[in-house]
Amino acid sequence: MSQSGEKGKFPDAAGYVGFANLPNQVHRKSVKKGFEFTLMVVGESGLGKSTLINSLFLTDLYPERYIPGAAEKIERTVQIEASTVEIEERGVKLRLTVVDTPGYGDAINSQDCFKTIIQYIDNQFERYLHDESGLNRRHIVDNRVHCCFYFISPFGHGLKPLDVEFMKAIHSKVNIVPVIAKADTLTLRERDRLKRRILDEIAEHGIKIYQLPDADSDEDEEFKEQTRVLKASIPFAVIGSNQLIEVKGKKIRGRLYPWGVVEVENPEHNDFLKLRTMLVTHMQDLQEVTQDLHYENFRSERLKRADELFLFQVQFIY
Ligand code: GDP
Repeated sequence: MSQSGEKGKFPDAAGYVGFANLPNQVHRKSVKKGFEFTLMVVGESGLGKSTLINSLFLTDLYPERYIPGAAEKIERTVQIEASTVEIEERGVKLRLTVVDTPGYGDAINSQDCFKTIIQYIDNQFERYLHDESGLNRRHIVDNRVHCCFYFISPFGHGLKPLDVEFMKAIHSKVNIVPVIAKADTLTLRERDRLKRRILDEIAEHGIKIYQLPDADSDEDEEFKEQTRVLKASIPFAVIGSNQLIEVKGKKIRGRLYPWGVVEVENPEHNDFLKLRTMLVTHMQDLQEVTQDLHYENFRSERLKRADELFLFQVQFIY
């Protein structure tokens, strides 16, 4: 990710992330404990990943970021950077780690990118497994990657071969949420066509993305409707901006064009709010799927390998 000139904090922005509004039951649990959540962002450089992340959490996670030159970009392999921020809203604490994969798509050898990212995800599982079998099990820090926003370019006609390959390489390790970047560059028709195309290709290639669970039958109608709308919006077509623009006397986040302003938090302009709502209302589900599905896969594979190694050693000795 590169640092753009328009980064900044929003001391006077009225918005907040919204995790304090989680359903009551979840809320009560997390008030005590606080949330630990890790979000990974993957996609080509320049698609607006850092801008979107800063807009999502109303904080500048990368104030000191250094921008590499073009020659350096080619040389560079993928570096993983994890930034942790603690956000508190109405007494609810969120320890959020954003794992950034800068340089993805820059390096000529994309296999290196894959390896580094997969290694990072596996290392967090490994660390958790190690801590879980240790003495201090109650105070494990959970650094496992709970969600991956996969940024797709709005300029292509769907997924690129690299997108397909990459998503397939991580889909059994992490919850993938596909996101169309810079949606302000698309007309409504183009956006809808691209969404359909991406969904078709995801199905065609057998890519498993995160499935939003259906709302329970005892949930209120509003929540059910929200879930339905969120499901229908995937892949979320988003815009990001760290600039505050005055519109009708109100300061809003947006992008100023000669013909008008695209508003980040206007659901008619893009899916930013939906993406944020999805993340906030499904944070716990994303954690549970990570624990019950992805981590369990990792653990059983890991134990199987350990057994095989043990058997091999036994055979070797006798
Ligand atoms: P990253 O490399 O993926 O982290 O991308 P950045 O967040 O650094 O953004 C790269 C450039 O794209 C910057 O000039 C941003 O101002 C611009 N940008 C970010 N988000 C958007 C967006 O939603 N729409 C448009 N048109 N440009 C954007």
